[in-house]
Amino acid sequence: TAQLSDYTTTLARWEAERPQAPAITFEGTTRTWAELAQRVRRAAAALRAAGVRPGDRIAVLDLNHPSCVELTLACAQIGATNAVVNFRLAPPEIVYVINDAGARLLFVGPEFAGAAQQLRDKIPTVEQVVHIGGDGDEYEAWLAAQEPDAEVHPAESGDCFVQLYTSGTTGFPKGAMLTHGGMLAHARNVMVDFELTDEGRVQVAMPLFHVGGTSYALLAIAAGAQIRMLRLPDPVAVVEMLERDRITHTFLVPALLAAIVQVPGIAERDFSALQALSYGASPMPLPVLRACLKLFPGVMHQVYGMTEACGVVSSLGPEDHGDPAVAHRLVSAGTPTHGVEIEIRDPATGEPVPTGEPGEIWVRTDQLMGGYWGKPEATAAAITEDGWLRSGDGGHIDADGYIYVTDRIKDMIISGGENIYPAEIERVLAEHPTVGDVAVIGVPDDRWGEVPKAVVVAAPGQTVDPEALIAFARENLAGFKAPKSVDVVDELPRNPTGKILKKDLRKPFWEGRDRQVV
Ligand code: ATP
Repeated sequence: TAQLSDYTTTLARWEAERPQAPAITFEGTTRTWAELAQRVRRAAAALRAAGVRPGDRIAVLDLNHPSCVELTLACAQIGATNAVVNFRLAPPEIVYVINDAGARLLFVGPEFAGAAQQLRDKIPTVEQVVHIGGDGDEYEAWLAAQEPDAEVHPAESGDCFVQLYTSGTTGFPKGAMLTHGGMLAHARNVMVDFELTDEGRVQVAMPLFHVGGTSYALLAIAAGAQIRMLRLPDPVAVVEMLERDRITHTFLVPALLAAIVQVPGIAERDFSALQALSYGASPMPLPVLRACLKLFPGVMHQVYGMTEACGVVSSLGPEDHGDPAVAHRLVSAGTPTHGVEIEIRDPATGEPVPTGEPGEIWVRTDQLMGGYWGKPEATAAAITEDGWLRSGDGGHIDADGYIYVTDRIKDMIISGGENIYPAEIERVLAEHPTVGDVAVIGVPDDRWGEVPKAVVVAAPGQTVDPEALIAFARENLAGFKAPKSVDVVDELPRNPTGKILKKDLRKPFWEGRDRQVV
């Protein structure tokens, strides 16, 4: 495995050792390590020329493009930070994030040029907008105007060089400051788990504003593996690239895999180069996992993690995906990855709970973020004095040390004093032949406080019968867990990484009422 000290040194190492080997391929253009390193030094020079100083922030608002990675690495070199903006956000949220970051430069892709124009007078910290790609590309000229700058601002382990925003499923987005130390620890820890080496061909399909995009790309760079990047995670494009480019490693979210397993002719494709198909970021429905296990045997690899820990903190390897003796493990998130401690704590007292008991998942690792940018109180609430991150996830650990992620604690339903985990109900309902997609939420109830309601999308060609579905749930679950009502909808609201927006689903039912959460 690679020796890591900081990203600038790592890049220089691959440039020296394998200058002509491919580093990043995107839409038919491949850049070698020598080219990538030169472009990063030009970007560093251009950022410095634009007045960007150590501690400053820039922002990128674009679909996936290698320039975002180049800018992140250039920031690492000059002590600045790239705040990557979620391109699915609504304009007022984009304004919020750019202002929150206080970005001095904004890089925008062609799809967002119009929006950026309209927002221009609402983002006063932005001194310059640089257009990337398309007919109006300015980025190449911006790079070419500078001689490569070799000067390195020495990176301290706690310095932030990439800022990713939490998805905001539990409130306004917060900028997680991902540090040199944290990112390198993540790369070092996960590389071992993924068995990723400089022979790897890594598909970067998930958006770069998410850890599943940026941390995954930085992991590949740390390993000296080559990156094949997709502009958008389109299911057909993902599948075609997996086969054509003989991808060895990829990370895809369950909602995308649910579409991928439906791609016509997928069973005839050759995925023999794949060594690890990692999935995570939201719960994996078992029917989708079973379909994946047939299509991608021996390589399914679940990861559990969060932005605040630079990405992955636990994983369930292929060996635990096929063994019928431990079939129950398929619904677990595996065991902590190298360099990570995980404990279950009582969310109210912070005390550890006995093995097997439910509580909040706490994580301690040198991968942790430096904090939320400009939010010391939120940081103090998230990370304890002795370095434990409160994940906000409910779960338990079994006697074999396997972690089961039940739900966001805020999504847990408390009905007549009983804790109900929506994920458990969703897993049962997903097995019903008429159900294509499902979310379970708590809705107010005068007698029980709240009760479970299922919001269901019918499977293709099927009709959902609410009464029959409730009866099915009653046969398979304790009575109080069975949904009391079923709503049928065309689509569930999801964020770009596939998480169901339960807050939005709950909203109409809770108008004017307070929902008690632990
Ligand atoms: P916000 O805090 O605003 O809601 P977010 O937590 O959704 O943002 P991320 O850091 O992208 O932002 O998501 C981390 C969360 O995703 C975890 O805390 C967990 O709830 C969920 N998650 C990640 N991996 C898995 C997995 N393998 N199985 C189930 N849930 C997962």
